[in-house]
Amino acid sequence: MGDAFVKLLRGAPVVGTIDAKLTQDVAACRAQNIVPTLAIVRVGDKEDDVAYETGAIKHCEKIGIAARRVTLPASAGQEELLQCLRARNAEAGVHGVLLLRPLPPGFDDELARNTLAPNKDVDGITDASLTAVFTGSGAGFAPCTPEACMEMLAHYDIQLDGKSAVVVGRSLVVGKPAAMLLLSKNATVTICHTHTPNMAEVCRAADILIVGVGRPGMIDKAYLSPGQIVLDVGINVMEDGSLRGDVDFAAAQGIVVGGVTPVPGGVGPVTTSILLRHVVESAKKCLK
Ligand code: NAP
Repeated sequence: MGDAFVKLLRGAPVVGTIDAKLTQDVAACRAQNIVPTLAIVRVGDKEDDVAYETGAIKHCEKIGIAARRVTLPASAGQEELLQCLRARNAEAGVHGVLLLRPLPPGFDDELARNTLAPNKDVDGITDASLTAVFTGSGAGFAPCTPEACMEMLAHYDIQLDGKSAVVVGRSLVVGKPAAMLLLSKNATVTICHTHTPNMAEVCRAADILIVGVGRPGMIDKAYLSPGQIVLDVGINVMEDGSLRGDVDFAAAQGIVVGGVTPVPGGVGPVTTSILLRHVVESAKKCLK
């Protein structure tokens, strides 16, 4: 019964809208001999990284962005990686760089990500990009996943002004920037983490709940209330290889929340479209 009343906030229509616009923008760039180009820098051969890279390249090809694999062996040293990143910074034909992380053990993540030029930081990993999320201006790009959440909320016409938003998780890649982006749209924002008391109660009081914790099905009916909008950022790979979110989907349906993103097929695919939008935005700066 719940199924009939719970709106599924799917990623596909959002991807469709973003990609249609990107395809036009890429054509406009190409008409001026600018080929929006993404370099994907990978250290080592981790299966997840290769899968993500292949997916991103296919997506690039679909909308006309050129994608280039730049691969270093896991045995490469820190300096080799930094040189590789500096070379991409200096390469006029590369408009965006995606550095696949986490890096193999032994690499200095902070040094590597901050070696990237903010204007090519399409994944929003440099301190400059993160600062811009907090100040609302400056160089770089917002991290793609929180921006994907905002895009989904806008696509599904969900009002944020004056609403109460709760973000569960406070990582630099999801929770903290998501909170700042919600705040910039005049939501009243609470961030929850492992030290938050009465978290279920706090979550139940939210109009909009964004969850990125990495714990399959943790957000069950105790955390949900009718009419809420629930964005599930979690991507958890289960033993059988299936993907599961952080939200107990059946509980969300039972509670009759106002809308919930499925996993897979929710925020995840939109995240890649946002990454590509950043590449195109970067390339468009080269237009006359
Ligand atoms: P992370 O760096 O491990 O951060 C997890 C956050 O969740 C931390 O702030 C942690 O709190 C909090 N947390 C964990 N268990 C909790 C609990 N029981 N109660 C309250 N808070 C809890 O993870 P992440 O990189 O942000 O990723 C989170 C999830 O999003 C993962 O499933 C990841 O795969 C997924 N993800 C999806 C996308 C996408 O495109 N859709 C992109 C990135 C990540 P403390 O700070 O107190 O430890």
